[in-house]
Amino acid sequence: MSFEQQKTFFIETFGCQMNLHDSEKVAGSLVSQGYRQVLSAEDADLIFYNTCSIRDKAEQKVFSRLANFKRLSKMGKKFAVIGCVAQQEGERIFERAPHVSLVAGSASYRNLPEMLVQIERGERATGLDDRNTEETFETEFTARTNPHRGYITIIEGCDKFCAYCVVPYTRGRERSRTSESVLEEARRIVDSGLTEIQLLGQNVNSYCDPLGRRSFAELLAEVGHLAGVRRVRFTTSHPRHFTREIVEAIDTVPTLCDHVHLPIQSGSSRVLDAMAREYTREQYMERISWIRAAKHRTISLTTDIIVGFPGETQEEFELTMSLLEEAQFDAVFSFKYSPRPNTPALVMENAISEEEKTRRLAVLNDRQREIQRVNYARHVGQVVEAMVEGYQTAREQVTGRTSQNKPLNFTVPVGVAAPAVGGYVQVRVVRSHPNSLVGEMCLAEEAEETPAAYSVI
Ligand code: SAM
Ligand code: SF4
Repeated sequence: MSFEQQKTFFIETFGCQMNLHDSEKVAGSLVSQGYRQVLSAEDADLIFYNTCSIRDKAEQKVFSRLANFKRLSKMGKKFAVIGCVAQQEGERIFERAPHVSLVAGSASYRNLPEMLVQIERGERATGLDDRNTEETFETEFTARTNPHRGYITIIEGCDKFCAYCVVPYTRGRERSRTSESVLEEARRIVDSGLTEIQLLGQNVNSYCDPLGRRSFAELLAEVGHLAGVRRVRFTTSHPRHFTREIVEAIDTVPTLCDHVHLPIQSGSSRVLDAMAREYTREQYMERISWIRAAKHRTISLTTDIIVGFPGETQEEFELTMSLLEEAQFDAVFSFKYSPRPNTPALVMENAISEEEKTRRLAVLNDRQREIQRVNYARHVGQVVEAMVEGYQTAREQVTGRTSQNKPLNFTVPVGVAAPAVGGYVQVRVVRSHPNSLVGEMCLAEEAEETPAAYSVI
């Protein structure tokens, strides 16, 4: 088939890193079926929206996209809605947007080749009933789009059923890949030239090797020991399954990054109980004490918080505020509680008004910004390793990231070539903001001369 005859597809992704990586795998699957990826909906025969329904706003985006691009269906283009909104809304999507040909949840992606044949025949295809599967979506043909980081999903789905969350209904039950297949994929990623690997799962540390060979902490350490791997990240960890062994692995395997993302959701044990999180504030703080007690590393800690969960009193919100002071997070992803279909919280009493949720969110964000201002300022004067992610040509800066996952943008000495994307350099931090650091790249000799100031952040 010639280049011009090849069918083309465009994929737009909403939501989390899991979704971004699912899109890489869906794209790989389409490429293996003879399709070619293009960069705009206008240029594509088949347009995919990989959707997110975690909050109402995210869900609305896809319907406005479908409405905006309806005109393209008159040109013979086909539309596919995949991901969480697809699973949640199912065939109702065909009623709301009749120009859609394919609706599939993430548990059905392994059946994409058959679904593609159906829509090529002019039929509608659905993949919605597969959530009880034991199978994961593995494909040899992942179309990796991140130029410096290889993602690996090690566990799919979620069995936790937090009272506010749609994920268990949209992504199906928890199912882990064998640790052998994860290690195999990690080796392929390194062979392709990437040196940073991120292990993914809605609850990555609930990982349970189907063959029982390795715990999550053991798998993490083994990925870190693979030849050619420079950095390993993992997200998202659930406090319930967070163990001392994970801290021990980070503390002893130098390639494991100094960062843990551990969502707390609320500082009130009563609210945590109503959310069905199955841990208390005290248990969460105990896990933080393990992280802070690491002997060789300073591990950065970030979290997720929901404000305005039904019934959250002002006093309970203040407990969340006091937890911010105790925990000293380096970043907080904060959300107003968003009522979601099918979830137990939807019918809980004492809903908090939108206005009050907005107020609490602003109070929380203002305080957290100040905490981060102080945390980030501690790095000024340090020499740290940055991985190069890109360039901000207008500011003549290289954009990078520290092991602690902090953005570090830096200048390069006059007459020195800018380092390549994916490379690692030593940078002296000269300024800080609440969300990023600014530095100057060190020359090789300078980096060697300053071991006392050196720290990996
Ligand atoms: N599995 C992870 C955990 O339990 O910590 C979180 C994954 S979830 C996809 C990402 C974040 O979205 C959650 O940590 C929570 O803060 C937020 N979230 C989920 N449902 C929400 C809702 N209904 N309203 C507001 N935020 C929500
Ligand atoms: Fe959602 Fe809770 Fe599962 Fe996280 S653990 S994905 S918040 S149900």
